[in-house]
Amino acid sequence: MISRRLRGITPYVPGEQPTEGRYIKLNTNENPYPPSPRIAELLATYDIETLRRYPDPTFTALRRAVADHHALRPECVFAGNGSDEVLSFAFFSFFDRSVAFPDPSYSFYPVYCDFYAIESQPIPLDESLEVDLAAFAAVAADGIAIANPNSPTGTYLDRRQIESIVSSAGPDRVVVVDEAYIEFGGESCVPLIDKFDNLLVVQTFSKSASLAGLRLGVALGCEELISSLFRAKDAFNSYPVHDLAQRIGVVALEEWNHTRASCDRIITTRERVSSSLASMGFRVLPSKANFLFASHGRLRGGELYRTLRERGILVRYFDSPRLTDFVRVTMGTDDEMDSFLEEASSA
Ligand code: PMP
Repeated sequence: MISRRLRGITPYVPGEQPTEGRYIKLNTNENPYPPSPRIAELLATYDIETLRRYPDPTFTALRRAVADHHALRPECVFAGNGSDEVLSFAFFSFFDRSVAFPDPSYSFYPVYCDFYAIESQPIPLDESLEVDLAAFAAVAADGIAIANPNSPTGTYLDRRQIESIVSSAGPDRVVVVDEAYIEFGGESCVPLIDKFDNLLVVQTFSKSASLAGLRLGVALGCEELISSLFRAKDAFNSYPVHDLAQRIGVVALEEWNHTRASCDRIITTRERVSSSLASMGFRVLPSKANFLFASHGRLRGGELYRTLRERGILVRYFDSPRLTDFVRVTMGTDDEMDSFLEEASSA
């Protein structure tokens, strides 16, 4: 009954979302602080009659708001059901035969490759687990995808470094920069869009704007790239972004000061937790994301994960060769991180 295509695919496995038990949940990079209260007001006054109708398939108001936020034109903005969907459309639209991406990186990239029968060209991180710039300047693939900051490591390339990759890719190869974590201390490369038609920047409302449950992501790029994404969407699902998501996205952008404040709090927490872990003897990678990637020294990642889980704290570990010593720890509230530090110190 099952197609050969589907049988050949190994799906992405998302982090646990436990429905039972009480955990301090530091495993899926969600924001510990609530979204703006103005979103609650919007929900309270939402006219349910609106739900009789299909949503706007071209996201007019949302695109305008995103464009204003970034000083772009609305024609340079696409939206989708989470940045996962936007990335999936981008892989489908811009990579014919092959795509290069850092390894390890976001583990959905090889899944999209399987899905669309694109060859993956993983480019190993260097010995400090940073993205290998020189290797990206020399790739032969049809295109490039880079998470910046990278996940699960949290390391980051500055705008000049991204520019060097986009420029050496040349005008005919698209570089997708996945900025899911850019609001946690990095500098976005959106301003490079005016200069490079082969750059597509993907962002999400999930992490910085505390809206992971809403499923809203966007892509920013030149008009040709964006109209190609619309073409892909319209060959798949006319309405991937429901009306509430479009409206909430607009309010979230109006309330960006709220988002900025919660990201700044998370950055402060991250720096504190990073120093505490280092003083406890952990190796901690430099991070510009809302998580830290740390290795315990004595316990392997899987052992530390299990010990913490038994004590009610969920972190993420990755059972892949270069990552087995590490766990990825999302920044929670300061109280949550104090509990984490206490349990980690006695693990
Ligand atoms: N990119 C990266 C690097 C991520 O870690 C995630 C979160 N799993 C996503 C994209 C997808 O985020 P979302 O679909 O919630 O926008």
